[in-house]
Amino acid sequence: MRSLLITNIGELTTHSDSVLTDAAMIVTDRVEWVGSASSPHAADEVFDAQGAAVLPGFVDSHAHLVFAGDRAAEFAARMAGEPYTGGGIRTTMAATRAASDAVLRSNVERLVDEMRRQGTTTVEIKSGYGLSVLDESRSLRVASEFTTETTFLGAHVVPPDVPRDSYVELVAGEMLRACAPHAKWVDVFCERGAFDVDEARTVLAAGMAEGLLPRIHANQLTEGGGVRLAVELDAASADHCTHLSDSDVDALASSQTVATLLPGAEFSTRSPYPDARRLLDAGATVSLATDCNPGSSYTSSMPFCIALAVRDMRMTPAEAIWAATAGGARALRRSDVGHLGIGAYADLMVLDAPSSVHLAYRPGVPLVRKVLHKGVWVR
Ligand SMILES: [Zn+2]
Repeated sequence: MRSLLITNIGELTTHSDSVLTDAAMIVTDRVEWVGSASSPHAADEVFDAQGAAVLPGFVDSHAHLVFAGDRAAEFAARMAGEPYTGGGIRTTMAATRAASDAVLRSNVERLVDEMRRQGTTTVEIKSGYGLSVLDESRSLRVASEFTTETTFLGAHVVPPDVPRDSYVELVAGEMLRACAPHAKWVDVFCERGAFDVDEARTVLAAGMAEGLLPRIHANQLTEGGGVRLAVELDAASADHCTHLSDSDVDALASSQTVATLLPGAEFSTRSPYPDARRLLDAGATVSLATDCNPGSSYTSSMPFCIALAVRDMRMTPAEAIWAATAGGARALRRSDVGHLGIGAYADLMVLDAPSSVHLAYRPGVPLVRKVLHKGVWVR
């Protein structure tokens, strides 16, 4: 593969070294060399960053991209004062079931492209709007065309056409067997109004027995038992973590389970943000993701989530950027993305800014100038 020299990097964040200034790097599909812009080096091609900041591509470890329709009217109603309950998932379910594979595919393609333009080079994609054997498995087939990080979320909510008990049995049985060949992960929305801890344990244990790895939507709306279940099962990630007891925080801090915070959901439901500072100070590993979905968080922008985390969740810019890159990789148990150490995939972005702090300092501004994915410019 041809080599590419990126030189005159004003600020290079690799996460495997301290932040470098006046830096250069050589990549193929992987990072081959990192050092000073003034030391001699040669490559097949050269890109002059002209003093801009370079950092790893974002790892968005939580996104619901396979769906049809939108819920703009529900958002407007919520902003006019109606509370968020999660019930709108069934609205999207009906639209998703009615959509062809081609429509679902083009929706995912549009959102993945939107993400790339904003610096995301790895994305996890969940099912969860089909809620039938056929519609969940075709959702995952479509998702697997775009990423290897595919997640079976048949246990998103109970669909209106199946009784509750038999639905849990279906998800943990026939639906799981149809979906497992297309999925890496199994997930459950463990929450009041969705699935309780025992139901979540049943579904996750069944998924693990089929070779899938667990992750959980936990403690978004209430201080339930989702986080403790995540730690009990050594889940890669407990996602949301908005309402945590002291023992939840301690459990996360003494485990490998990442606390994935999704501030787009609190923003879009006008809810209190999770306390990132409390988790970080306790020693938990924190990641940030978009939760991109048509109901509670219709943003595909990791820079927006970084800005929220810094402004409203008391993360420092450096902590938020780590959480959106290396933290996301931890939440997917990946060591080949989310950093720019030697041997990592050459997934990175060049900003229209001299420092990565600008991602939070200049919210809403399209600062991602160039994006490299596995050594190829995709923007
Ligand atoms: Zn979610």
